[in-house]
Amino acid sequence: MTEIRKNDSKGEEVKVFKDLFETVIHPGKCCSCGACVAYCESQGFNVIKMEGYTPKYKSPETVDNCTECGLCYYICPQTDTIQEKINKFYKIEDELGYIEEIIAAKTTQEAIKEVGQDGGVVSTILSYLFDRNMIDAAIVSLYDDNLNTIPKIIYGKEDILKSSGTRYSISSQILPLKDLYNISLDIIEKKRILDIEQLRLVFVGTPCQIRAIGKMRFLHIKPAHVVKYAISLFCFENFNYDKLYELLQAETKVKPKNIKKTWIKKNFFIRDKNDNEFEVDIKKLDPAVRSHCHDCDDFTGKFSDISVGASGAPKGYSMIITRNKKAHNLIHSLLSVGLIEQYTVPIEQTKEWKIKKTNWLKKMVGLKRKK
Ligand SMILES: Cc1cc2nc3c(=O)[nH]c(=O)nc-3n(C[C@H](O)[C@H](O)[C@H](O)COP(=O)(O)OP(=O)(O)OC[C@H]3O[C@@H](n4cnc5c(N)ncnc54)[C@H](O)[C@@H]3O)c2cc1C
Ligand code: SF4
Ligand code: SF4
Ligand code: SF4
Repeated sequence: MTEIRKNDSKGEEVKVFKDLFETVIHPGKCCSCGACVAYCESQGFNVIKMEGYTPKYKSPETVDNCTECGLCYYICPQTDTIQEKINKFYKIEDELGYIEEIIAAKTTQEAIKEVGQDGGVVSTILSYLFDRNMIDAAIVSLYDDNLNTIPKIIYGKEDILKSSGTRYSISSQILPLKDLYNISLDIIEKKRILDIEQLRLVFVGTPCQIRAIGKMRFLHIKPAHVVKYAISLFCFENFNYDKLYELLQAETKVKPKNIKKTWIKKNFFIRDKNDNEFEVDIKKLDPAVRSHCHDCDDFTGKFSDISVGASGAPKGYSMIITRNKKAHNLIHSLLSVGLIEQYTVPIEQTKEWKIKKTNWLKKMVGLKRKK
């Protein structure tokens, strides 16, 4: 690597991947979102890659390909660059971020009810957007053949149900954007994508990943320019896949391949393929929590357009936070066509409902900070 570094407009040394490695990746703060690699690769710089969940130089030879643009460092959600500016841009003044509206709702779609994690709201939003031709693609997560959680760009409604439900391990959701300019001809023709720059995509991810997307959108950085809606899942903590399933098997004797669904409600729950349920003390899973989650204080995804989670919602419903008019209108379109139904707040509670719910979510952030 060249020894003399470029300076930015303020005369400060530009931080590059080497700095990202030293300050974020090596100390265990990387949340494996894949933003650094997605940006660098989509520009054709050919410097870094994702190896498992860790960004690395592709080889000693590619180190010198680094143009020292500094953007991998800038957009990383775990660096505090442009923090004040993005907070202002996203109107963030407290631990929950800007709230246009907060409601509880659930899907009315039977197929989604079967597989959705909570209210099935995220899958229903995707389904609506595909149906109305308002998007061309979405980044969701899936299990691969070995039950590892992987990110995937889907191009149609038919792939939504496979992606529904929560996988409590990291999926490098931004990574697929590295191949944005290599979308197969088949898809380009099928979706009638005349110009890849005009692709309309929904991004679904955890708050840390949404923070990277938020930085990229603020800076108008490709390839995040195609993200039309960023949907954040609430997130208290995430797990190292191998360690989590090793601990779960030790506690329940259920093999990972026999697990049908997992969820967290104070403790960790498993439903196996015979519909037996097991409860595991969440504290016993602490050794599997990913190290970067210990310092995380974003529970709802402050930089999203829409945030969805179960915390604070009546049973079977999801809490939905909209952050801007566009997101608000989208949720109200789903309500008006009856794809989701809103929880009716009892008349005597209407005044305090929103305050109670936001206080609850603030409490979750407080608990997260104390972890
Ligand atoms: C690691 C993790 C921890 C969470 N912790 C909490 C919590 O403490 N409290 C709470 O209220 N909610 C939490 N959630 C969110 C919750 O589990 C549901 O995802 C959310 O309520 C949406 O439910 P739904 O029925 O609308 O989603 P569905 O309609 O079932 O859709 C879920 C969507 O999430 C995507 N997804 C699933 N797993 C992942 C993943 N690992 N990374 C990225 N995308 C993924 C799927 O691809 C799908 O698009 C967590 C989610 C994750 C991934
Ligand atoms: S070229 Fe830019 S984005 Fe790629 S590694 Fe170097 S500084 Fe990071
Ligand atoms: S951008 Fe994402 S993948 Fe890259 S170092 Fe930062 S947290 Fe890790
Ligand atoms: S706890 Fe924070 S750092 Fe960990 S996965 Fe969730 S949002 Fe990301």
